Amino acid sequence: MSETIEKVKCLIIGSGPAGYTAAIYAARANMKPVLYQGTQPGGQLTTTNEVENFPGYPDGITGPAMMMELQKQAERFETDVRNGWITKVDFSGDVHKVWVNGEKEIHCDTVIISTGASAKYLGLESEQKYLKLGGGVSACAVCDGFFYRNQEVVIVGAGDSACEEAHYLSKLCTKVTMLVRRDEFRASKIMSERVKNTENIEILFNTETEEVIGDGQVVTGVKVFNNQTKASHLIPATGFFVAIGHKPNTDIFKGFLDLDETGYIINAKPGTSKTNIAGVFVSGDAADHVYRQAITAAGTGCMAALDAERYLAAKDSTFEVSTSNYN
Ligand code: NDP
Repeated sequence: MSETIEKVKCLIIGSGPAGYTAAIYAARANMKPVLYQGTQPGGQLTTTNEVENFPGYPDGITGPAMMMELQKQAERFETDVRNGWITKVDFSGDVHKVWVNGEKEIHCDTVIISTGASAKYLGLESEQKYLKLGGGVSACAVCDGFFYRNQEVVIVGAGDSACEEAHYLSKLCTKVTMLVRRDEFRASKIMSERVKNTENIEILFNTETEEVIGDGQVVTGVKVFNNQTKASHLIPATGFFVAIGHKPNTDIFKGFLDLDETGYIINAKPGTSKTNIAGVFVSGDAADHVYRQAITAAGTGCMAALDAERYLAAKDSTFEVSTSNYN
C-alpha cells in the first residue's frame, strides 16, 4: 500500500448535526472517527440565526454557536475533525475508498454519509443579501416561522413543501402571501386544497419575485410581477420564505449508492441507516426529504454510528462493541 494512503476505521463525511452526532457516538465506541467538514463547516444550520426548537437549549442558541458546541463535544472524545472536501468515492470493493480534495486517498472500514441537502433559492441579489444578513429570508418555516408571529410574510413555491410551510406559517402570521409561478400547484390535491381553504393565505398565481425589498438590515416587502400581464406590485412583508425544493448533496455517490430521482439516498433497510453497500451508512438530510430538522438529523447520526459499530463488530472479531453508548 502506498504511503500516501491512510486507513481509517470510521470516516464521517459532513459536519452538520448528523455528522457531529455520529462522531460523538463513534468516538465513544472507540472507532476513532475522522470527520471531514466539507465546504460549509457546520452545515445548513450555520445559515440560521436562532435555533429555538433543539431540545436542551431553553433560551435558544444561534445556529453557528450550536455547531461549535457540537464540534467541541465530538472533539472532546477525540474525533479527528478536519477541513477538507470529499471529491470522489469508490465503494465497489471490500475496502471503501474516498479521496479528499482530489488528492489524498483514504481507505475506510466504515463510512457515514452526513452530507446534508442544500435548500434551493431563487438566486436574486436582494434575496441573497437579506439571507446573508439574517434579515428576513429563510428556507425553513418550521425553523424560523416563530420569529414572524403576528406579522405578514411571503412564501414562494407550489409543491408539497410550500403548501405545508404556508399552512404552518398561517397559524403564526397574520397573513401569508403565496407566490405560484404557474397557474396551478405542483403539490398534491389535499395539500393545495388545504392552503386554498385557509383564510389568511392569499395565493397569487402566475406570479414571480422581482426583488426582495428592505431597509438595508431587514426585509420590509417583496416586489412581485404577474408573468402574464407583466404588472408588478409591492407586498408589505417582514419575512420572505423560499420553498422551491432542496438538493441533496449526494452527487459523488451516484453509481455506487441507490438514490431516488431527486438524489436522496435510499435506506436499504427502513428504520436503519444502512445503504445498499455494506459498511456505508447514511444520516441526516442526505436521506430525508420529509423531516429535515436538526434534531432528526442528530437522531439518525446516532443510528448510523451504532449501525457502523455493530457492522465492525460482526466483521472484525477483535473489535468489541462498546458499552458506553448503551447507557
Ligand atoms: P418540489 O420539487 O415538489 O416543488 C418545488 C416547487 O417550487 C414547484 O412548485 C416549482 O414550481 C417551484 N419552483 C421551483 N423553482 C422555482 C422558482 N425559481 N421560482 C418559483 N417557483 C419555483 O419540491 P418540494 O420541496 O415541495 O417537495 C419535494 C418532494 O417531497 C416532493 O416529492 C413532495 O411531494 C415531497 N414532500 C411531501 C410532503 C408530505 O407528503 N407531507 C411534504 C413536503 C414534501 P413548478 O411547479 O412551476 O415547477
